Amino acid sequence: MSVRYAFHQEHREIREAVAQLCSQFSLEYWDEHERDGVFPEEFYRAFADGGWLGASTPVEYGGSGLPISALAAILEEVAASGGALDACASVHIPLLTVPVLLRHGTPEQCHEMIPRIVAGELFVSFGVTEPTAGTDTTRISTFARRRGDEYVISGQKVWNSGALRAEKVLLVTRTEHRDEANRASGITLFLVDLDSDGIGIQPIPKISRNAVKSCELFLDEVVVPADRVVGEVGKGFSHLLTGLNGERLLLSAECLGLGRWCVEQSARYACERSVFGRPIGANQSVQHPITEGYLKLLAASHVLEAGLEAFEAGADSDQIGALTNSAKFLASEACYFAADQAFQTFGGYSFAREYHVGRHWAQCRLQRVAPVANQLVLNYLAERVLDLPRSY
Ligand SMILES: Cc1cc2nc3c(=O)[nH]c(=O)nc-3n(C[C@H](O)[C@H](O)[C@H](O)COP(=O)(O)OP(=O)(O)OC[C@H]3O[C@@H](n4cnc5c(N)ncnc54)[C@H](O)[C@@H]3O)c2cc1C
Repeated sequence: MSVRYAFHQEHREIREAVAQLCSQFSLEYWDEHERDGVFPEEFYRAFADGGWLGASTPVEYGGSGLPISALAAILEEVAASGGALDACASVHIPLLTVPVLLRHGTPEQCHEMIPRIVAGELFVSFGVTEPTAGTDTTRISTFARRRGDEYVISGQKVWNSGALRAEKVLLVTRTEHRDEANRASGITLFLVDLDSDGIGIQPIPKISRNAVKSCELFLDEVVVPADRVVGEVGKGFSHLLTGLNGERLLLSAECLGLGRWCVEQSARYACERSVFGRPIGANQSVQHPITEGYLKLLAASHVLEAGLEAFEAGADSDQIGALTNSAKFLASEACYFAADQAFQTFGGYSFAREYHVGRHWAQCRLQRVAPVANQLVLNYLAERVLDLPRSY
């Protein structure tokens, strides 16, 4: 039985269509792209041509206007296909800019960019993280200085995923120096062309998810027209938060997909592999951890569903924040648990690329760290749900 049907009944037709598209891309395709660090152009093209990039984008911008739960289902199926995060990142990164534009962009920016993003013609990377600020985004130091009708930007970003493939970056800058009394103010978002003079891009050698390279971005006096500001000058931090809950939900769905692949493969292998004259899956020490992984994913899927429902119903922001953060924590921990059990189940063969377990294991591990580390999720829940003192 596919683990998929134990979890979900909704968006079944969409799930089947996406799974069908993904089945055209073999495990070997993904292994090669991961190994060689090559962007999966064929998959990205097929996904965009199928209309999936625009699934939850409003119809007036070339999308299908489906609810976010449909996009979550789509990304879960992509993750579960064996493409793992190499596949997911290639299609979700450009979509991260869309909610920010829809909410805060000018009509001109929306009409210029969004139809191109959903058509797979415009890849935008997301430039938040800096080497010296880390998780504490208000400490970024990339600075945009106003000069007449333009801004001049200098600074450095790190882990900018997709920058080598992207035409633009949604860049988070400071336009005022940090004020301790109001740490989040003075941050401004820009859409910057990555071929501008003064930009250097350096890929970071990574241990995994290499099909979408992550890069250092160096900006030296980069001139950007003032009409490339997204939203209000100085309000960029709150604009960024706009997209955060949706991103957490989609990420959680990807975790479920990754975890499903691990559970399904573990169960299959445990039945097929015979040692001591019987399938290894006949041992409780093999079958129980696989089953426990399944249960953790099942529990996480219900919290994710509650988060999607609250989000779609426009529930109050505290309730949505609590559910999306809970889903992110539970789904990422569950998928890593399932991946680690897959590693144990496959024994020595988990180290052979041929079995694709190591690839999934490393990518599931990543989900506990990025785009937000699980300690920060616990910080949020401790403060906002349990009324504990703010710790960060
Ligand atoms: C493969 C990959 C792709 C990425 N892609 C992008 C991208 O496209 N765009 C982008 O902007 N960023 C991207 N990132 C960056 C990612 O969002 C950050 O790595 C992540 O937010 C953590 O930041 P950091 O690595 O600087 O950790 P740090 O902030 O240095 O933290 C290190 C550790 O300390 C913990 N810690 C720090 N402070 C606290 C505290 N107060 N309480 C409890 N624990 C704490 C953290 O949780 C973490 O475990 C990517 C990262 C990776 C690995």
